[in-house]
Amino acid sequence: MCLSAAFNSLKSSNLISWKATGKLQQTLEGCIELTGKALHSGKVSTVKIWPGFAGEGRYFEFQSKLIPASIDFVQESLLCTTLCKDGYKIRTVEHLLSALEAKGVDNCRIEIQSFDSKDPEVEVPIFDGSASAWVEAIEQVGRKEALDRCGNNAEKLAPYLNEPLHVSRDDSFLVAFPSRMVRITCGIDFPKVPAIGCQWFSSAALDDFYEKQIACSRTFCIYEEVERMRNAGLIKGGSLDNAIVCSASKGWLNPPLHFHDEPCRHKVLDLIGDLSLFARSGSQGFPVAHVVSFKGGHSLHADFVRRLSGII
Ligand SMILES: [Zn+2]
Repeated sequence: MCLSAAFNSLKSSNLISWKATGKLQQTLEGCIELTGKALHSGKVSTVKIWPGFAGEGRYFEFQSKLIPASIDFVQESLLCTTLCKDGYKIRTVEHLLSALEAKGVDNCRIEIQSFDSKDPEVEVPIFDGSASAWVEAIEQVGRKEALDRCGNNAEKLAPYLNEPLHVSRDDSFLVAFPSRMVRITCGIDFPKVPAIGCQWFSSAALDDFYEKQIACSRTFCIYEEVERMRNAGLIKGGSLDNAIVCSASKGWLNPPLHFHDEPCRHKVLDLIGDLSLFARSGSQGFPVAHVVSFKGGHSLHADFVRRLSGII
């Protein structure tokens, strides 16, 4: 792919202006390989992340199909973000994408294999329910400037929001205001679960802040909802090792928490992963804006990215 062609696809609109970040696009120095159990399917899968060419962005390879980590391939699903192409599905991509976006791994090929080689569905391993395993692996292997297939480096662009944008469903909303830098404010409210209650968390720029304050925040669930979710075919691989579980009457079942507001911080982690699906041609995906989310979830995040993309 020629970079000029890739960059031509980054068309600014009334809503978004693509601007230089002053940084070059990056990729990994070497390959990352991690194997683990998935949260929803309970199956084991192996992920290998390979260095990618500048301008080609992040994309999955599953059963010889290439599936870009793009909103264009997001399929509606419960409690996780799923990419789907030609009947092949990759579930729970959000924590991995969150780590790649926050750590500036702009271009990479993510090969994913399930132990059942004929299964058209695969799920990214959950590990401890946070993005720590991915962040540590990225740190270990290192990052380097990405080159395109002609050997040239490429400027990293970012989408700057020009005007406020919001999406909402019932009492949850996601709103973004123009800002000179990325800011994220997330709120959650569980009035029937006093140990969680109402929490707000604000995050500044990504990278270092992400690594220290967000990456290790784990997936959470409400104990009283576990049976209902299991009956819906979800969290088959869920355990006290890969999520923090809170009971409405008994409080946290597997303390200690990494932060008193760990559930809210995990929402920031998810938001970064889901909004990274706006990335294209090795650009930043998360919009340069102040993004405020209240009781957000993966479907609302996807709606927001579709609005940014002009799809809806
Ligand atoms: Zn999550």
